[in-house]
Amino acid sequence: MSSLTEQDALRLAHELYNLRVAARRLPGEYDDNFHLTGDDQRASVLKVTRVGQAPGVVDLQCRVLTYLADRAPTLVLPRVCPTPGGEPYTIALVQGVPRLVWMLSYVPGQVLAEANPHSAEMLHSLGRLLGRIDAALVDFAHPAAQRDLKWDLARAGWIREYLDCIEDSHRRALVERCLSRYEHEVVPALGGLRASVIHGDANDYNVLVDEPGMQPRRAVSLIDFGDMLLSKVVCEPAIAAAYALLGKRDPLSAAAQVVAGYHSAFPLTEAEIALLYPLICARLSVSVTNAAQRKALEPDDPYITISEAPAWDALERLSAIHPRFAHYTFRQACGLPPVPYSAAVVGWLQANAARCAPVLGVDLRATPSYVFDLSVGSLFLGADPAVTETAALSERIARELRAAGASVGVGRYDEARLIYATPAFASGERPTDERRTIHLGVDLFAEAGAPIFAPLEGEVYLVANNAARLDYGPLLILKHSTDAGQTFFTLYGHLGEDALEHCSAGRRVAAGDQIGSIGAPPINGDWPPHLHFQIITDLLDLGRDFPGVAYASQREIWKSLSPDPNLILGVPAERFPPPEPSTADTLSARRALIGRNLSISYQQPLKIVRGWMQYLYDETGRAFLDVYNNVPLVGHSHPRVVRAAQSQLGLLNTNTRYLHDNLTRYAGRLTALMPEPLSVCFILNSASEANELALRLARAYTGHEHVIVLDAAYHGHTGGLIDISPYKFNGPGGTGPKPWVHVAPIPDDYRGAYKRDDPEAGVKYARHVAAIVDQLQAEGHGLAAYIAETLPSVGGQIVFPPGYLAEVYRHVRAAGGVCIADEVQVGFGRLGTHFWGFETQGVVPDIVVLGKPIGNGFPLAAVVTTPAIAGKFDNGMEFFSTFGGNPVACAAGLAVLDVLRDERLQEHALRVGGRLLAGLRDMTARHVILGDARGSGLFLGVELVRDRATREPAPDAASYVVNRLRDSGILAGIDGPHHNVIKIRPPLPFGHSDAE
Ligand code: PMP
Repeated sequence: MSSLTEQDALRLAHELYNLRVAARRLPGEYDDNFHLTGDDQRASVLKVTRVGQAPGVVDLQCRVLTYLADRAPTLVLPRVCPTPGGEPYTIALVQGVPRLVWMLSYVPGQVLAEANPHSAEMLHSLGRLLGRIDAALVDFAHPAAQRDLKWDLARAGWIREYLDCIEDSHRRALVERCLSRYEHEVVPALGGLRASVIHGDANDYNVLVDEPGMQPRRAVSLIDFGDMLLSKVVCEPAIAAAYALLGKRDPLSAAAQVVAGYHSAFPLTEAEIALLYPLICARLSVSVTNAAQRKALEPDDPYITISEAPAWDALERLSAIHPRFAHYTFRQACGLPPVPYSAAVVGWLQANAARCAPVLGVDLRATPSYVFDLSVGSLFLGADPAVTETAALSERIARELRAAGASVGVGRYDEARLIYATPAFASGERPTDERRTIHLGVDLFAEAGAPIFAPLEGEVYLVANNAARLDYGPLLILKHSTDAGQTFFTLYGHLGEDALEHCSAGRRVAAGDQIGSIGAPPINGDWPPHLHFQIITDLLDLGRDFPGVAYASQREIWKSLSPDPNLILGVPAERFPPPEPSTADTLSARRALIGRNLSISYQQPLKIVRGWMQYLYDETGRAFLDVYNNVPLVGHSHPRVVRAAQSQLGLLNTNTRYLHDNLTRYAGRLTALMPEPLSVCFILNSASEANELALRLARAYTGHEHVIVLDAAYHGHTGGLIDISPYKFNGPGGTGPKPWVHVAPIPDDYRGAYKRDDPEAGVKYARHVAAIVDQLQAEGHGLAAYIAETLPSVGGQIVFPPGYLAEVYRHVRAAGGVCIADEVQVGFGRLGTHFWGFETQGVVPDIVVLGKPIGNGFPLAAVVTTPAIAGKFDNGMEFFSTFGGNPVACAAGLAVLDVLRDERLQEHALRVGGRLLAGLRDMTARHVILGDARGSGLFLGVELVRDRATREPAPDAASYVVNRLRDSGILAGIDGPHHNVIKIRPPLPFGHSDAE
């Protein structure tokens, strides 16, 4: 029989429901479904069931939806639209055959399958939605719910008969393992589990999420209740999780989000949680076996192979996860202690602390020890990786211990560290991929060769000579037992080779027996001599590969697997520094203590504790690629700049009323980089201070007050500069222009009046300045200055059209004004083609203002001007800035110039920026939302538009992109009067791979 036409649907809607509608066919495997739109624009779905369908299952669905509408009215679900006679469904002759016909309200939304990305919030909300539905259905019953469906996860055992259909033996074995686990763990437990009517098929075509504009996006509705059945409650989240994890890089955490959401609305029992992993694997096994069976029947259908691929991939990934680790992950997602018996081990150790023999032979309760800070934000380590090189670090640790009068150094448990630099600690190849950072043991730093003793009686579980694995060295694991018979382990890493002689697997040890000694580099894994001591509640069959350092995203699970070793060691609590405030605590302290209009970037604020070159690191050690902070010009924490400032600060920092060569040396270097006649410097502390001074210079020189500025410009935060910053005085909280301020249009050849294809654009934009000049003269006002960024950054990463500044400067000078170039954002080689922005326009300003990158983050700014202007300013009033030009700031500025030259960073900016811009332009050609990509060197902007033709700005999209970039480890920012330009202005060490 042929499928129904839209004409059939129109007829049915009219005859059965008395509706005049427009109809559109919807996809459906067996049934015929139509989207109907009525005259009143209300939408519904007309459903015509397959031939021969008994009414029971349709009745079940109608009753479930009606029941849910009554019990959980706030859930957004399809509602049954009865016939005018009040029937939920009816039988009609369609093409001469009787069919069941019914109608549901249409729920708008995007199917989860088409939503990207599946954020954590989205998956959590999916679980929660299902939990709310199931919670409402606990007392629901219907005879038709007793169904025998191959997708019933409580009856997955049927696949055993079909395993032979899986041709690949490796894959067959994979499914066989999942099935065995199901038969051993799930089947015997089924009888004790809660049963209920469940949806049973929350696949990503049955889940609707809200529209892309909503942030964060959430699952809002569930459709297609055709697979509803009476099964075990836990099968619902297991099925949903099995779908949700498909195609995910980290399937376990995707599944855990769904489970957490479900549990938050409809709590799972511990017994149910324990079955989630085998159930999820069983569900994927049913999918792939079903596909294999179909393939055996229809060998030529390529679609089957395509559609089964994600399930195979997921099975492979899940099988690499220890089932108990998965169990602990789900327990944690449900707010339970991850390892169920970990608390019992911890309790026993607390009660038996006095029984523990000292691991290093000295009682750490009484012996002076010193706790090191090896955290991401450690001032002891700093950011320079060279510091953690073995010999240097060993020496520093020894020196620090001597200075503290301590014989034992302690490295902290649960500390996030960046010292684990090898690929073995990375989850992927990109520098921004998550690395293992959380230390799960305690380090005891002492002399190499110092003996190590068993703290508790036990048995040698494993001795391994891991010298080949440079991150570990010889290693020992002892097995112990609590009085109640609970097994746990202690691990000793970075030993000397003698541990191999002291111990052999199975040997009994008593508390206080020597089991090894502290190793020396390189045999100990090439670390400064120390013992890595760790407690393990479940070895997860990992043996010597049990990690000593964990991913921060799995922190609580690993802490439950490896509780605090200080339970055994007993280092007094007061030796440890107070814990660092959490991000949330820092945020609330900031809200309470700091002025609120000091803004914070990103929807999810970042706490950054370390910077190195083009990377920033949060407190967990997560790396972020910094693509928009131009202040650390030569790289965050560049060691040459750091050393220059540190050494000078350790010798002298004072004001400029004494002679000091740093000031003159620096001024000499700076002016040497400027064209004549720019030869006189004023050194200050911030660009705001410098722009203020530039205005004073201009007014002193001209004797006039009026200033011409560019629209959307920002020149600084002082009162005087807010007055010349339209971005501020015309923005929120602004009070409009002062009478002496005149705003010229921004010469934006993408969005402005004259476009890039107009060779006269520069001259035409300059005419607007000329018009202001004329007007001022006509009104009898003198002009003090024209001030502009030479490539406006706040204005939206704008590149002036050729000839613009030359024309402007001509008009301004003719009226007696001076020309101020604000080079705060673009100076110092970033543009690649030129060292200064004004050079790109072939002009020489009268006053140049420098800031931001000038000191690589050290407070420093400068004004460079002509002898004539400086001479007029020298009118008898003393000029003095307390910190301006101090020896430390000048030392930092000199080091920046040295690094720029020695590392050829301007050339580098030209090369990398050129490639990056070409790539961005290529993307612009392919994605309509990217209206324009522009810039020079590593000063680039990408402008997002709703419509390419009208160039209507897309600020929401820009904000979305920047927040998603942040989530994937890339920090970019937004600029431009319409907040739609993504700014790319990274520290100059930014390389080709970063650009990619
Ligand atoms: N001029 C320009 C072009 C700027 O972008 C800024 C800061 N964003 C300033 C001046 C003021 O700099 P500061 O905050 O260092 O005083």
